[in-house]
Amino acid sequence: MNRRPHYHKLRHYFMVIAASFAMITLSACSQITGVREGVVDSTEEPSLTLVPTFSDAIPSPTQVSQQEGDEPETTGDQEPNTNPSLPEQTNRLAIDCEPPADLTPSMTEGPFYKTGSPQRISLVDDDVTGSRLNLSGFVLTSDCQPVAGVLLDFWQADGLGNYDNSGYRLRGHQYTDENGRYYLETVVPGVYPGRTPHIHVRVQSPEGSLLITQIFFPDEPSNLTDRIFSPQLVITITEQSVDILKGEFNFVIPVG
Ligand code: FE
Repeated sequence: MNRRPHYHKLRHYFMVIAASFAMITLSACSQITGVREGVVDSTEEPSLTLVPTFSDAIPSPTQVSQQEGDEPETTGDQEPNTNPSLPEQTNRLAIDCEPPADLTPSMTEGPFYKTGSPQRISLVDDDVTGSRLNLSGFVLTSDCQPVAGVLLDFWQADGLGNYDNSGYRLRGHQYTDENGRYYLETVVPGVYPGRTPHIHVRVQSPEGSLLITQIFFPDEPSNLTDRIFSPQLVITITEQSVDILKGEFNFVIPVG
């Protein structure tokens, strides 16, 4: 009996089976390799992200700030004519102005102005005496348009009525932001002989106009006896507590 044809048939079946097995193995390997490299066929379901991107893994500086609730940091070496980002309090400011607005009256400069004050929005150092005051507002034109880049140079007495004439305590300058806003952290100044509580300020526009004036506080008994007090220069109190007084004042300046 000749068994060779039967042997050839068996060998043929075996080769077909072996070839099929090899193809299945190759196909499976190529899929595994695709997963490891993060290769996603565009025809697959789009919901599967295999490898995180850098933008997913590393939060942006903005995200970090929001997560930690940080206030933007201020540094001493800012570019001139710019302020650090103003705090949340100023975001709620609304321009209370009816054109044509009266220009803010000027006032005597007094004997205690010093050039060269540091650029800063907070005048509150550890050794400053007085109740905390946060003052904010706009610099506007008489058309009620905010003016950006206006220099505001503040100086004042401390809570006991004393000026620092040897250093720069309670002295500082800043610039209005792109929305014409300013923000000052300081203390409520005390009275000194002949004067009711007041804060001095020089307001200089980018075009060069200069307003020198003083701002005052409402309901101060000594307002009645201060010969240069002006009710037009009184701040509006927006919040008052044991810890802090918050107020607003807008300066209206000529442009040019
Ligand atoms: Fe003064």
